[in-house]
Amino acid sequence: MQGLMQDWPLLVTTVLDHARTNHPEQEVVSRTIEGPVHRYTYADLHGRAKRCAKALQKLGVREGDVIATLAWNTYRHMEVWYGVMGLGAVCHTINPRLFTDQIVYIANHAEDRYLFLDLSFVPIAEAIAERCPTIKGYVLMTDRAHMPQTKLKNVLCYEELLAAEDEHFEWVKVDENAAAGLCYTSGTTGNPKGVVYSHRSNVLHAMGVNTADIMGLRAKDSVMPIVPMFHANAWALVFSAPMAGAKLVMPGGKLDGESVHQLLEDEAVTCTAAVPTVWLGLLHYLETSGKRLSTLQRVVVGGAACPRVVMEKFEDNYGVLVLHGWGMTEMSPMGTASRLKPRGEKAPRAEQLQQKLKQGRTFYTVEMKIVDDAGKELPRDGKTFGNLLVRGPAVSKAYYKGEGGQILDRDGYFNTGDVATIDPDGFMQITDRAKDVIKSGGEWISSIEVENVAVGHPSVAEAAVIGLPHPKWDERPLLVVIKKPGCEVTKAELLAFLEGKIAKWWMPDDVVFVTEIPHTATGKIQKRDLRDRFKDHKLPTVS
Ligand code: AMP
Repeated sequence: MQGLMQDWPLLVTTVLDHARTNHPEQEVVSRTIEGPVHRYTYADLHGRAKRCAKALQKLGVREGDVIATLAWNTYRHMEVWYGVMGLGAVCHTINPRLFTDQIVYIANHAEDRYLFLDLSFVPIAEAIAERCPTIKGYVLMTDRAHMPQTKLKNVLCYEELLAAEDEHFEWVKVDENAAAGLCYTSGTTGNPKGVVYSHRSNVLHAMGVNTADIMGLRAKDSVMPIVPMFHANAWALVFSAPMAGAKLVMPGGKLDGESVHQLLEDEAVTCTAAVPTVWLGLLHYLETSGKRLSTLQRVVVGGAACPRVVMEKFEDNYGVLVLHGWGMTEMSPMGTASRLKPRGEKAPRAEQLQQKLKQGRTFYTVEMKIVDDAGKELPRDGKTFGNLLVRGPAVSKAYYKGEGGQILDRDGYFNTGDVATIDPDGFMQITDRAKDVIKSGGEWISSIEVENVAVGHPSVAEAAVIGLPHPKWDERPLLVVIKKPGCEVTKAELLAFLEGKIAKWWMPDDVVFVTEIPHTATGKIQKRDLRDRFKDHKLPTVS
């Protein structure tokens, strides 16, 4: 027997339609690239996204075409995002932090037709234009008065394109499984690979992420996605905020502590999300300026492990709840968040912190398990490490154009490349990327955990732990540290600081001080480069 419910395709345009109909007055506030703060409503956003779709149609863009963006989080980026998807085309957000050669590679691989860009990224477009023959034109997301001198050919002014259209446009009714978004992961080996989101995966994922124990956004929330739209859908907030009717605050390109604080306060932000480096910057600003956070209720920290100091300071000094989240581009991107269960709520503070610092538990639509190298499922005892596998309606089943071949196992699970434990409450904890684990005496040392404790030292700006070969133990950890400007700390002081906070045999065999630690375009430490750099370093424990 078949159910007798309607066939209502899960298209992302239904999200914006919902916001326009039910929350037309709700504000969308942006710090523009030109400088001033811009504000309008979901009704305005809806209207201008339709104009954008119409303008694209006039430019010859059709269903399935790929349109690229090089842009910060602003209202214009949202308009292009929904305009492109509403035309049945595919919005390809390019990470401007990638190397020029990588951007050229992905623009060609994706066969981008047009590139919409912020003023700040004109130099990047100029550098790639000659080598990207599929790009027919460049749309500068500004008005006529701010159009710069550029050697780019086929340049269009965004505001002029929109001014020439009206809002009467029917979203193109594509299949819910049609591609809506494209985002390349900057894998550490080989070329970047394209992750293709569908309308359906985006809608389901945004609903999952917005359940009460994860983001739990409501119409009375004011939410600021600091995590960029070019980093995997801004963790679904560009869908889940309009779904909930929450006020949306877009920070543009200014992500320093002072600028972030100003918007948090001026726009009465209640929920925000970003990588740890942004939070370290904000906390430093709060401490040096003596400023407070008067409306913020919860902060989502993800993309890299949340350092203990970030959680302690937000929660203990500013009364802001920290949710540690984990995910990856291939997962749309969220997979877990660390909201306590009733047992954890009643536990002593130290125990709570320990659990909240884990990457957290999944929400409905994400299935997760750990397995050994033979693929056998491992116990959820919080101790056994294994390869972390996931599956669900918003997890990739293949990369664009089949790059990387078959990526699922027999049961449809995707190997995240992370190594983790899962405790009996379902809280997952990442030990390392599989290729970065440190194997010492047959046991694994979590470099992430050691790094997190090390950055808690007041003189440490950043820390990385890598494994170096050791004749007796196979590998032993080396701690690489950048000191905060004007601060001093010695190796002995750092080791004393770590003592008692990590297992004895996890203690680094040596500490080196550097002025720079290499990062990927998504802000992750390039451990491979560090291992190369220190491959001849002699550990004092090697005789
Ligand atoms: P990306 O696709 O660039 O978002 O990178 C995904 C990878 O980032 C994951 O597979 C993890 O290795 C890492 N990652 C993301 N969030 C966290 C977290 N909260 N803690 C530790 N690693 C994380």
